[in-house]
Amino acid sequence: MTEPAIPRYTFDERSQLIASKCGVCGYVSCPPQQTHCDQTVEPVALAPEGTLESWTTIRVAPRRFNAPYLLSFVRLIEGPRVVARLEAAGAASAPSAGARVILAEGSLGASGGPRRAVLVASLPAGRPGREVR
Ligand SMILES: [Zn+2]
Repeated sequence: MTEPAIPRYTFDERSQLIASKCGVCGYVSCPPQQTHCDQTVEPVALAPEGTLESWTTIRVAPRRFNAPYLLSFVRLIEGPRVVARLEAAGAASAPSAGARVILAEGSLGASGGPRRAVLVASLPAGRPGREVR
């Protein structure tokens, strides 16, 4: 069975997203690239925060994936755009373009299914003063 192409994102021990930065042009890539401008790149850690650019509802998913779910594009503070499952349950408001989101590791798979690491973008929670995780 062919698995769908999903970018693989990783975090360091401080929950920072792992990315790469080109020493020639400064391009930041997340997930990291091996090379850019024909040069080896340096690993960098990015804050797991960004703004919601767009999203859609996935109603027909690959087998063993829990549908429906929201899939989004998020622009990180440092510039790269990432693909993330959008978690809107318990949020203060419906998703809106430009909303601030926090990213964490998650899964698209059903419980007991494949632990396919994906990014999960969470909207601010509905209760004021509550920490968004
Ligand atoms: Zn470059």
